[in-house]
Amino acid sequence: MRTLSAKAWLWLGGELDAWADMDKSVDFWWRDDDATGPGRALDRLLGLSYNRDTPLALAVIPSRLKPELVDFLRDRALIAVLQHGYAHENHAARGQRKLELGGSHTSKQIIADLERGYQILEQHFADRFKPVLVPPWNRIDDQVVSRLNEIGFAGISTMKVRRKAYPAPGLLQVNTHLDPINWRHQGGFIGVYPAIAILIQHLQARRTGYRDIEEPTGILTHHLVQNEAVWHFLEDLLQFLSDHPAVNWLDAATIWK
Ligand SMILES: [Zn+2]
Repeated sequence: MRTLSAKAWLWLGGELDAWADMDKSVDFWWRDDDATGPGRALDRLLGLSYNRDTPLALAVIPSRLKPELVDFLRDRALIAVLQHGYAHENHAARGQRKLELGGSHTSKQIIADLERGYQILEQHFADRFKPVLVPPWNRIDDQVVSRLNEIGFAGISTMKVRRKAYPAPGLLQVNTHLDPINWRHQGGFIGVYPAIAILIQHLQARRTGYRDIEEPTGILTHHLVQNEAVWHFLEDLLQFLSDHPAVNWLDAATIWK
């Protein structure tokens, strides 16, 4: 008898085959959040990306950037840098869910912080930096969104199916859809079956036109907090996807041209 997780992988294979049968390639992308500097976890993450030849968009917190990260990423052609807010500080009002880009801070303060962060990343990473904002906790005030393009951003990325491809003129939104971490259990894993079910739900919705077919399916990881079970799943997932002929990994430079 097959285990539930073995069935889940077969199910995912069947879904990818369905794309192939329609002569469609299925676009994926990979984002990892909260990077600030080099370390063993980041080294491990970059190793996975390299071994599977999979592009990775690293969301870096500008005000906490350790300049050694610049050298650490040198010669790593698969890695792009995105902007993860400014300081990853919580400005939520009482009773509100955590957010940096809103809450008790005015749009003016937030925009000034984001501009400062943008300059830091551009100065350090030059072309490796793609002008895409990844709001901490995947939340941002709508008023701030409408001003991002004027300070240089070409994109934004949060979580779950996007409502619109362009939430503001010149600002392309591409989100992530699978976060395999169980946040109620400090970096634990939600499990193979639930994780694959989330992926398949997004893939099916795209394939059948129920959801925006153009939005690539995004995998979200957190190298600093994920436990061994998440690491193993990630390794298996990258291998499984990369071995399937219908899968096409997109890098940030291709998504946000
Ligand atoms: Zn974060």
